[in-house]
Amino acid sequence: MKKSSFILGVFAALITSTLVAGPATDKIAQREPEPFAGYSKKCGFPILFANTNSISLARIDARLGKIIVLDPVLRYPGQDAHRRFLIAHECAHHLQGHTSVKGLQNRRKDKGVEDQELSADCWAAEALALTEYAANVKFMADAFYRKGLHSPGSGYPSGVQRSTMIYHCLQSARRQKAAKENTGLKKK
Ligand SMILES: [Zn+2]
Repeated sequence: MKKSSFILGVFAALITSTLVAGPATDKIAQREPEPFAGYSKKCGFPILFANTNSISLARIDARLGKIIVLDPVLRYPGQDAHRRFLIAHECAHHLQGHTSVKGLQNRRKDKGVEDQELSADCWAAEALALTEYAANVKFMADAFYRKGLHSPGSGYPSGVQRSTMIYHCLQSARRQKAAKENTGLKKK
């Protein structure tokens, strides 16, 4: 008797939670908590996991507004560096206006994709350079470098181009930080 009412209770709870968790029906799998220090403040866009044709993307959703969508494969623990970098990269696409109508028009211009991708990479490298995840930036720069000199297509920059940009922006963020800290010391 007790056991069966417990089972009924579990059933009822399951049905209720399914009804309440509406977003599950439109394939919103999970919201990522703060992926790196400063994310909520700088970006704050909902991060969703869903199967798309892309490993990660930034887009404007009719209901949710600016969102970042990640492939569920990025939830594997071995993908932490990848996931963080791509979240920062997609955040940059929103912040830099690449997902707006004008941004999408610019993307179709000559070198438009290349410009936007390298610019988002640079922002991501700078954002993470100032967190405990600076090593993730190096990891990504090395991973891109191994992809070589050829563009993967669709106007995307080559791995070597991306790697060079990421290293450059990581180093310049570090230099700026060091410069600021030195000025701070002199003032004392
Ligand atoms: Zn991109």
